[in-house]
Amino acid sequence: MKSYDFLLIGCGIMGVTTAIELRKRGHSVGLLNPDSLPHPLAASTDISKIVRMEYGSDTEYMDMADHCISGWKAWNELFNDTLYHETGFLLLVKNPLEPSSNSFENASYENLLRKGHQPERLDSQAIRERYPAFNPGVYVDGFIHRRAGYVESSKVVTTLAGYATQLGVEIHEGQTAAFFEEKNGQVVSVKTREGSEFQAGHFIVCAGHFTHTLLPELQGVMKATGHPVFHLKPNRPELFTFPNFTVFGAAIAATGWYGFPLHPMAGVVKIANHGPGLELHPEQDERVVYEADIAHLRAFLRESIPALADAPIVHTRRCLYCDTLDGHFWIDRHPRLSNLTVGAGGSGHAMKMGPVLGEMIAAAALGEGHRWAARYRWRDLSKDTKSAEEARNKT
Ligand SMILES: Cc1cc2nc3c(=O)[nH]c(=O)nc-3n(C[C@H](O)[C@H](O)[C@H](O)COP(=O)(O)OP(=O)(O)OC[C@H]3O[C@@H](n4cnc5c(N)ncnc54)[C@H](O)[C@@H]3O)c2cc1C
Repeated sequence: MKSYDFLLIGCGIMGVTTAIELRKRGHSVGLLNPDSLPHPLAASTDISKIVRMEYGSDTEYMDMADHCISGWKAWNELFNDTLYHETGFLLLVKNPLEPSSNSFENASYENLLRKGHQPERLDSQAIRERYPAFNPGVYVDGFIHRRAGYVESSKVVTTLAGYATQLGVEIHEGQTAAFFEEKNGQVVSVKTREGSEFQAGHFIVCAGHFTHTLLPELQGVMKATGHPVFHLKPNRPELFTFPNFTVFGAAIAATGWYGFPLHPMAGVVKIANHGPGLELHPEQDERVVYEADIAHLRAFLRESIPALADAPIVHTRRCLYCDTLDGHFWIDRHPRLSNLTVGAGGSGHAMKMGPVLGEMIAAAALGEGHRWAARYRWRDLSKDTKSAEEARNKT
């Protein structure tokens, strides 16, 4: 039976960055993941994910994202590859930004200025001239912040898994953790569906939206929610090629709509919705995009991006968040099992924090402090708890 100092369950962005961090600290590290990597059902598996500092009035996430943008740039250099594309983030609104209004966009804008960043304000004429794909007059105000963009998330997971293996992490693909053997308040080993058993001094569950099925005690504080993703093939690709088009939020806190420029490799424009989503069981429920989702998308495009309104949809996916009730990550040791730690609860916004997640989860497992640890601790949440993530449409 294989035995490690640390055994990771799950090789998404949380698991792989934690494995690297612990290995760099000289620990022996094993990692389990079903099937092959990047796993098609993983939230981290996708062509693009937004990297933004805009978090409304929440300056902790803003500072964390700012720190992570330097991390993404360092990884671009380390791997001599473009994992992170710094295209900027364009936030558009339908009504003028009111100074001191607490709208997501206005609070983000003011906090960026307060921290010495330089978001560029755009009026409807500037939006029309710089981003001609947007319907003139629909968005009358907004700003572009250049310290932002997107990461090619599947490529990130593949690259980091390769790096982890180089460092000596033993990644066991095709292994699905099924059951923890416990003794005297400790996990002794984990048994897999495939019939194997693994031992470790400490176990770390980073199973994304499967976490609460593996640890049912978390079912009261997190759930899996499914969100529609669309890939469209534009008839006029030049209109959607960066810098004519960029990563955007279209009154995102009120509508949920956001998207990306034409993907350099995939040749598609990805549009998705950061909204309440559909609560699903990660294994028992089907993950499909319904006609109603497509109708919702078409209505948005007709109003906001007419040149894309009739473009063919070449791919759809219902991707699942590991949604904590308050929308904050869940990073802490288990209250009853002293050698088990959980790193999950991405709630639709953790990919951008890749460069710091491993450090935070490793610190929790090692019983060390971390400047950004307090808010993600094991906590009581009631069913009335609302998501605090301000970019998210909650209606
Ligand atoms: C539609 C959508 C859009 C998003 N957009 C953004 C964005 O623009 N910006 C951003 O920052 N974030 C975004 N996110 C959120 C981000 O993708 C997630 O927060 C992040 O990827 C979560 O990473 P993870 O490692 O926790 O989970 P995952 O990536 O889901 O990885 C979990 C891994 O655990 C494995 N696993 C599951 N069960 C077991 C088991 N029993 N045994 C072993 N392994 C197991 C899975 O196969 C998987 O590989 C988005 C998410 C979705 C769904």
